[in-house]
Amino acid sequence: MVTDHAPIETPPRAPSPVHGFGTLAVHVGSDHDPTTGAVIAPISLSTTFAQSAVGQPIGAFEYARSSNPNRENLEKCIASLEKAKYALAFSSGSATTAIILQSLAAGSHVVSVSDVYGGTHRYFTQVASAHGVRVTFTPSIEVDIEELIMPETKLIWIETPSNPTLSLVDIRAVANIAHRSGIMVVVDNTFLSPYIQNPLEHGADLVTKYINGHSDVIMGATAFNSDALYERLKFLQNAIGAVPSAFDCWLAHRGVKTLHLRARQASQNASMVAHALEESIHVIAVNYPGSNSHKQRKIAIKQHRDGLGGGMLSFRIKGGKPAAERFCQATQIFTLAESLGGVESLVEVPASMTHMGIPKEQREAAGVFDDLVRLSCGVEDGVDLVADIRQALEKVVVATKVTNGLANGNGHPMSNV
Ligand SMILES: *Cc1c(COP(=O)(O)O)cnc(C)c1O
Repeated sequence: MVTDHAPIETPPRAPSPVHGFGTLAVHVGSDHDPTTGAVIAPISLSTTFAQSAVGQPIGAFEYARSSNPNRENLEKCIASLEKAKYALAFSSGSATTAIILQSLAAGSHVVSVSDVYGGTHRYFTQVASAHGVRVTFTPSIEVDIEELIMPETKLIWIETPSNPTLSLVDIRAVANIAHRSGIMVVVDNTFLSPYIQNPLEHGADLVTKYINGHSDVIMGATAFNSDALYERLKFLQNAIGAVPSAFDCWLAHRGVKTLHLRARQASQNASMVAHALEESIHVIAVNYPGSNSHKQRKIAIKQHRDGLGGGMLSFRIKGGKPAAERFCQATQIFTLAESLGGVESLVEVPASMTHMGIPKEQREAAGVFDDLVRLSCGVEDGVDLVADIRQALEKVVVATKVTNGLANGNGHPMSNV
C-alpha cells in the first residue's frame, strides 16, 4: 500500500442501501488507486508494513495475518451485499465454521439441523466435542427448537437450503424463538449466496462458494451486525490465523462483482433442468426449491429473492446406486466432481462422495439415498444443460437394461423406457 493511500475505516460501516445489489457488488471496496488511478486494486503481497515510529504504522496495516488491503476490500464488499455492518473472510468455509464454534465457551450447547454439509457434521461431531461444545441435531428444527433449547444453548445452526436434499428452514420462525433466549443463529447460506437470500436480520450468516464462483478459490466468510461478535471473531481470525491469501481475496473480489448475474443465470438453468427431470420417467423425485412441486415452496417465496431456487438441485434416479453412478459418467457438460457454485456445471453422488462420512442410517433418514444425484448448475446455456441431462438419462437406462435385466440390486423397479 502506498503511504498516501486514504486509510481504510476499521471496522467498516454498512454502506448506504440506496444502491442495488449489482452496483454494490461492482463498487464497494473497489476504490480507484489514489496514486496511479488503477481501476482495479493491485494484489498487495507484502506481509509487513512500514511504520513511521515505533507502534505507528504509516497506513492502516501492520502485518498481513491481522489485516491486508485485499482482504479488507473483499470484506467490505461482502458486508454490503449481506446488508451487514461487518464481514470477515477466512481460509475456507470450514475454518469459518470452526472459528464460530471456537468463539463459544467450553460447556456450550448447539442445536443444528441434521441435514448439514458433510464437513460441518464432521466438525460438530468429531472436533467441537474436544473443546467441550455439544451439538444436538434435529431433522425438524421449526417444531423441536423450544424443546431442545437448554440453559447452555448458545447457538442455533441452520443450513437452508440444505445440502444435498435442498430442504428449507423458515429462518424467521427459528430466529424468533432463539432470540427470545438470547441465542445466536447462524445460517449457512452457501447454496443461495447473498444475492438470493439475506438471512442477516436473523443472526450471523456464513457463505462460501458462490461469492468467488469460478472454482479457483477455497474461502469462507461470515457477515453479522454485532460489535461484540466482531471483536470476538476478529480476535480469533488473527489469533488462529486461518486467513485467506491476498491473491485469493483479490480473485474472490473479482468474482463477486458478477455474483448477481451468475446467480440469476444459474437459477434459470436449474429451473429448466428441474423441469426436465420432473418430466422424465427415469426420475423418482426432484428436490428444487424453485419448483412448485417443492414441499416448502412457500418458504422459498418468502425467503428468497423473487422466489428464485438457486443453482443447486438433487434428484433420485431410477435404478439405484449403479444408475446414479453411470449417470454422472454419462453427462458431457456436467463434470463429475465435488463442490458447487462455479460457472461450470457439476454433478456428483453425495452418498458415495461428499456425504460418505455420514453413517448410512443417518444419511437415509435425511433423504440422502444411494440413488440421489446432486447437480450444481453453472452459467452455460440452459438448453444445452437440459439436452445433456436428457442424453445421460437415456444412456443410463440402456446400460441398466443390458447389465441388470429386469431389476437392480437395490430393489427399485426398472424404469421402462
Ligand atoms: C463447501 C461447504 C462448506 C465448507 O466450505 P470449504 O471452503 O470447503 O471449507 C460449508 N457449507 C456448505 C454448505 C458447503 O457446501
